[in-house]
Amino acid sequence: MKIGEILKRGVFSVSFEFFPPKTEEGERQLFETITDLKKLKPTFVSVTYGAGGSTRDRTRRVVKRIHEDVGLNVMAHLTCIAHGREDLIEILRDYDKMGIDNILALRGDVPRDRPDFRPPEGGCRYAVELVRLIRENFGDRFSVGVASYPEGHPESPNMEWEIRFFKEKVMAGADFSITQMFFDNSYYYEFVDLCQKSGIEVPVIPGIMPITNFRQIKKFASLCGATIPQSLIEKMEPVEDRPEEVEKIGVEFAIKQCEDLISNGVPGLHFYTLNRSRATLRIYEAIKDLVPVRDLSA
Ligand code: FAD
Repeated sequence: MKIGEILKRGVFSVSFEFFPPKTEEGERQLFETITDLKKLKPTFVSVTYGAGGSTRDRTRRVVKRIHEDVGLNVMAHLTCIAHGREDLIEILRDYDKMGIDNILALRGDVPRDRPDFRPPEGGCRYAVELVRLIRENFGDRFSVGVASYPEGHPESPNMEWEIRFFKEKVMAGADFSITQMFFDNSYYYEFVDLCQKSGIEVPVIPGIMPITNFRQIKKFASLCGATIPQSLIEKMEPVEDRPEEVEKIGVEFAIKQCEDLISNGVPGLHFYTLNRSRATLRIYEAIKDLVPVRDLSA
C-alpha cells in the first residue's frame, strides 16, 4: 500500500524502523520484535540500507520476509552514493517484482575518511537524483519518501540551504518525508513552518528515537547534529550506567514528546526501534488514546 496515498487520505501514520541484522541470532530477535510490534497495526515498517551498499542482500531479505511472511506494509530504504545507475534500477526492478510499494530515497553518508568521494560514473550524487531516477524509470509505481532534518543536515551551512534542497527533492517527486531524530519539538515546528512558507506541502513525519542507551544516543546525536536538551542530559547522565533507569526516563521523555506532537497535529509518528520493541510498546501504550483515527479503509 502506498504511504503517500494513505497520508493523503488523512490517516494518522504509525511506523517502525529496523536495520538488517548481521547474524542469524540478530535476525531471529528482529522477527520477534516485528511480531510484537505488528499488534500495534503499523501503517508501515521500514528497513534501512547500508550507505556503502554493504547491506544490499540483507536489506532485501528482511524486506521480502516482512512483506511475504509477516504481511506488513514495508518501505525499503535505498541509498544511492555507492551504486551506479544500472545497479539502482536493478534493485528497484526487484522490489517492483516483489510487490514493494514504498522506497525511502536517500543519499547515504559520504565515507568520513574520503571527503572527495564520488559515486560511480553516471550514479547519483544527491538523493534528489535518486528521486528523479525512480520517477523517470518507474513513474508512479512507488510511493517515494525522503529524509529531512529539522535541525539541518550536518553538511548544510544554514536552514535556508536545508529547505532549498529539501524542496528540490519534493519537486522531483517525493510524496512525504521522515525527519531525523530530534529531542526538542520546537525544532520540528519551526522546520514545518519554514517548509510551509517555502511552498513544501508534503507530510513531514517526525522521527522519534526512544532512548534506551544514553551513551549510544549521545554519539548518534552528535553525528547527526540533534540537540539533546540540557534538562534531559542532567536526568540521564547520573544514571547512564543503569539501563533500566535510562529506559524509564527515555520512555517518559518520548511519551511527553509524542503527546505534544500529536496535540500539534503531526501526520504520524515514525519510531527508530533499533530492532527492539519494549520501549516503543511502552510509549505506544501510553499515547494510544490520543492517536487520531488510523483506519486504513476510512
Ligand atoms: P541529500 O538530500 O542528498 O542531502 C545531503 C546534503 O547535501 C544536505 O546537506 C543537502 O542540503 C545537500 N544537498 C542536496 N542537494 C544538493 C545539491 N544539489 N548541491 C549541494 N548540496 C546539496 N543512511 C543510510 O546509510 N541508510 C539508511 O537506511 C538511512 N535511513 C535514513 C532514514 C531517515 C528517516 C533519515 C533522516 C536519515 C537516514 N539515513 C540513512 C541517513 C542519510 O543517508 C544521511 O543523513 C546522508 O548524509 C544524507 O542523506 P539525504 O538523503 O538526506 O541526502
